[in-house]
Amino acid sequence: MDRQELLRGLPKVDRLMDGELAGLTNEYPRQQVLSELRDLREEINSGQGHERDLTAEAIRDRVAAGLARASLPYYRRVINATGVILHTGLGRAPLAPEAAEAVAELAVHPQRVEIDLESGDRGGRDRGCAELMRELTGCEDATVVNNNAAATLVILAAVARGRRVLVSRGELVEIGGSYRIPDIMRESGAVLAEVGTTNRTHLRDFEQAIDDQTGLILKVHTSNYRVVGFTAEVDIRALVGVGRKRGVPVVYDLGSGCMVDLAARGRVGDESVQELIAAGVDLVCFSGDKLLGGPQAGIIAGKTEAVDACRRHPLFRATRPGRLVYTALEATLRLYRGGDDVALARIPALRRLTAPAAELEDAAESWAAELARIPGLEVEAVSCASQAGSGSLPTHELPSWGVSLAPSWCSLDSLAAELRRGEPAILARTHDERLIFDLRTLDPDELEAIRERLATLASEPSES
Ligand SMILES: *Cc1c(COP(=O)(O)O)cnc(C)c1O
Repeated sequence: MDRQELLRGLPKVDRLMDGELAGLTNEYPRQQVLSELRDLREEINSGQGHERDLTAEAIRDRVAAGLARASLPYYRRVINATGVILHTGLGRAPLAPEAAEAVAELAVHPQRVEIDLESGDRGGRDRGCAELMRELTGCEDATVVNNNAAATLVILAAVARGRRVLVSRGELVEIGGSYRIPDIMRESGAVLAEVGTTNRTHLRDFEQAIDDQTGLILKVHTSNYRVVGFTAEVDIRALVGVGRKRGVPVVYDLGSGCMVDLAARGRVGDESVQELIAAGVDLVCFSGDKLLGGPQAGIIAGKTEAVDACRRHPLFRATRPGRLVYTALEATLRLYRGGDDVALARIPALRRLTAPAAELEDAAESWAAELARIPGLEVEAVSCASQAGSGSLPTHELPSWGVSLAPSWCSLDSLAAELRRGEPAILARTHDERLIFDLRTLDPDELEAIRERLATLASEPSES
């Protein structure tokens, strides 16, 4: 049957609307049902629809499925089986239950943001998070903006506008999307002064580059890559030393600021925010939704004078977060008060990052045994590698375990598509003609949800 024939063979719109689709018009606006029906005809017309016997019942089912899909919100739950812990496409860090509860509770009520409840006066919106940052990191003061890109922009504009900012050539990074240090620098009104070479920059390079136009020394974490081989970078402590001697502030764009001791858990980690504050930097800035494990935010911490300069800058007002971000961030930070053990247990990003491979292996073996009972599924527990994601700990592969599978009833691509389009969406990764589900980013209830979905798909293979 060619397409035209197929279209001609379709039952008439009016007849369908009064007949097989009548039930749907009770559930959805008539206009929506009509438009879904037209989309289906269009699909057939353009050749995307697969040729098959389109009975009125088949049309009704397709229209009903389309309507159900279209009525789902755009922002909806996804099960992340990719093994990328902080997946930017999936919103990076999931919140700890404590943070989620605080948000759910306050979202439907007025809440304290700027009012000092003791005196009744207006105060700073960031006070709750600033207090906790002081307590947890030893910084003099701290504040919060919308994300870390905004934090860098605000810092440069507030501390170094119109002045030279020294950055090592090895650290002029581009980090996902459109965050590039030279571009941010230009937009901030600061003047980039490149120091050293791509692979080696020495302290003397900085010493020689400082002049009376120099407003800042900026160190940038090379989050998503590593320079390897014949390399040299200047330690932050040495930069702080030079900055002090010459009266130039030193700022570290940390990217993924971590506040627990990852090395103690067998993970290669960066220096913690606390260590950098102790090293005497004027400011550090980092994301709220990377390894901190909180909401999207940019946290600025350090010396009183520098933090205050940021707060007074007009860009600060333009990049301030919403009240629920402060709420989620405060609740997340409060978990760090309980020490590393509490933070690692309660904060999903940290728990996943530090889950021992042996534990994941056991879970993968027993889940694979369950999945093997589904007919038509070839299943195997496999060792694999997860990633922290979002440029955190880029070159460190996390040894992990997953389940690899291949269906007999359809192609791998169509199984992946079915899983993605279902509710909730399930995202796995494809490798060597297999779908891999990495246990590191999955919770037990999610394993069960995936198993159920696979069992359903196996029992009623879709024709598309
Ligand atoms: C991730 C990152 C940023 C950007 O942070 P966002 O919170 O995504 O805006 C900036 N600098 C470094 C070094 C980063 O790793």
